[in-house]
Amino acid sequence: MKKLLNLKLNICQRILLAALLTLIAIPLVYFLKIPNPNLILFLVLNISLVITGFPGGMVSAILVMAYSCFFFSTGHDFVTFKPINLQKVMVTAVCIVLDIVLLGTMYQESRKTLKQKNELLEEALGRDELTHIKNRRAFRDFFETLPGHKIFLCYLDIDHFKRFNDDYSHETGDAVLKIFANTLISWFGYDHCFRVSGDEFVIAIPFTSMEDFQDKDRQAREALRKITMDGKQFAITGSCGCIIGTPENAEDVRSMLRQADKALHEAKEGGRDRISIQQFEK
Ligand code: GH3
Ligand code: MG
Repeated sequence: MKKLLNLKLNICQRILLAALLTLIAIPLVYFLKIPNPNLILFLVLNISLVITGFPGGMVSAILVMAYSCFFFSTGHDFVTFKPINLQKVMVTAVCIVLDIVLLGTMYQESRKTLKQKNELLEEALGRDELTHIKNRRAFRDFFETLPGHKIFLCYLDIDHFKRFNDDYSHETGDAVLKIFANTLISWFGYDHCFRVSGDEFVIAIPFTSMEDFQDKDRQAREALRKITMDGKQFAITGSCGCIIGTPENAEDVRSMLRQADKALHEAKEGGRDRISIQQFEK
């Protein structure tokens, strides 16, 4: 049943499934001469509604209603009814409408809630727990959108980050990570910044101009140098390896990342607190 409820069907498949269920039930109740067939048919209608929602439910309802007209009509001619049977047909019609409205609405609402929960879960899974910026998992998804676009792809690493942990405390280190992450997103945008491990970050932004990028880099560094915590000034600096290029496929993006990592190490070896920008070499 759980599998049936989780079936991913398009609208045509849903309608067909509901029609199939009802068209199996109708001959069964007819040939087995079930004295109160509507009970069985309502059960089938409810199952159709729960599994297939409004569209399938509507089809099932039409078939159940047609069978009721057939069953209660005089000589099974669908149109002539004794007064008592006419009442039964009308009660059936009212119950079908109420059933569709109530169960159909519940189905729609539960689907909507499930979709919202899934979206929240996806969002939570793609966020770094500490800094609340996007994480490595979110970068993996973002990765696929990069081919075909001219981008800056950068690896960043906080300089001597371990010292914040060792000289102050792990909490201070955490605070530095949060500040660094917030600075990145305020200059480069939430969608483009990722914490990929400890004090390592990746930025992937569309290419604008070198001046514009260097300007942002300079301003972000200035902001980080002025950070104060508990009255103490914390000169936070970072090194960055950045590659400019247009990846054609996922392998190119991986290759750009490797080159960015190499450029980052060059920036570290060159004395830290700097950026090394290079063109992508295929
Ligand atoms: P470098 O300039 O060469 O990058 O030196 P570094 O000290 O920044 O580099 P290193 O890789 O030696 O230190 C990174 C440290 O980050 C080691 C690890 O204990 C610490 N770290 C990793 N994740 C977290 C975290 O979530 N919170 C805190 N406070 N520290 C972390
Ligand atoms: Mg570091």
